[in-house]
Amino acid sequence: MSDILVSRTIPIVSVEEAMVHFPIAHSILEKIQGKPRRYVQALNGVRLELMRGETLGVVGESGCGKSTLARAMVGLLQTSEGKIYFNGKDIATLHGKARRSFNRQVQMIFQDPYSSLNPRMTVGQMLTEALSVHNMCPKKDIPARIRQLMELVRLPADAIDKLPHEFSGGQRQRIGISRALAVEPEVLIADELVSALDVSVQAQVVNLLLDLQQKLNLTVLFVAHDLRLVRHISHRVAVMYLGEVVEVGDTETLFQTPLHPYTQALLRAAPSMDPTDRGKSVSLTGELPSPLSPPPGCRFHTRCPNVTDRCRIERPILASKPGGQRVACHLV
Ligand code: SF4
Repeated sequence: MSDILVSRTIPIVSVEEAMVHFPIAHSILEKIQGKPRRYVQALNGVRLELMRGETLGVVGESGCGKSTLARAMVGLLQTSEGKIYFNGKDIATLHGKARRSFNRQVQMIFQDPYSSLNPRMTVGQMLTEALSVHNMCPKKDIPARIRQLMELVRLPADAIDKLPHEFSGGQRQRIGISRALAVEPEVLIADELVSALDVSVQAQVVNLLLDLQQKLNLTVLFVAHDLRLVRHISHRVAVMYLGEVVEVGDTETLFQTPLHPYTQALLRAAPSMDPTDRGKSVSLTGELPSPLSPPPGCRFHTRCPNVTDRCRIERPILASKPGGQRVACHLV
């Protein structure tokens, strides 16, 4: 077995029973009426491991908690309960030098590159700042390192002196990737990296990420709603529903033999991989319940074709199955 395959079995980030609940505004009337404050339950006991050297795709409908999970893993959001470990250390306990080191080693690339780039700084100035803040190389070596980063993300050398507005959406996303790579991270968290781009440009950026992941042996969390992209890029896939991971497994196994009824419905609802099969997709029935008052028991029970009385009461746990997948369903 190659070193890379071995490394894909060692967790670099571990999410343990993570809960993220956002309080919503408590009106004066609600206070007078003595009503308790309500919370959006964005993550509800998520347990997931990101293995060193792998690309883990995270999929699910809008509002399922995938972006919240990504932000919690990069330390932008604190968990209400549960823990997130990076290289075995609880990230909530990291301070000072250890926190700065974590912030360097786990980088996030945002969906909207334009809003995450300073409009008044050239690419060269942005990269110089990133390299200097983290003391990545001696000052005299910075210009050469910036040229190297441009090559790595396949941007022309003259991009260094340009401002963000002078680039297309796909090029701006490459700038975002180069800024993340400047600090030599171990983990890239890509939240809907290409969903704002044209389809043809999406493929170029995703293929670039795939190349970089292999070349630099990066660990990548790839959050997306496009199942075809996720299948193309990921070693493993986690499926989320209403703040919970309902199935996780090796990409091809999961796409060929999905076990959870939600995964099955999600794959049926996705546009077919076969171009002659366009338009035959089946939609998921029913609305996604509100994360303000999620259903008890199995959160998917209001939309599940196989629901039983037990499902309405008892929450299924994510359990290992013989094929290697882990699935949260009483009937699997
Ligand atoms: Fe459906 Fe019950 Fe399985 Fe939930 S636990 S997915 S409701 S069969």
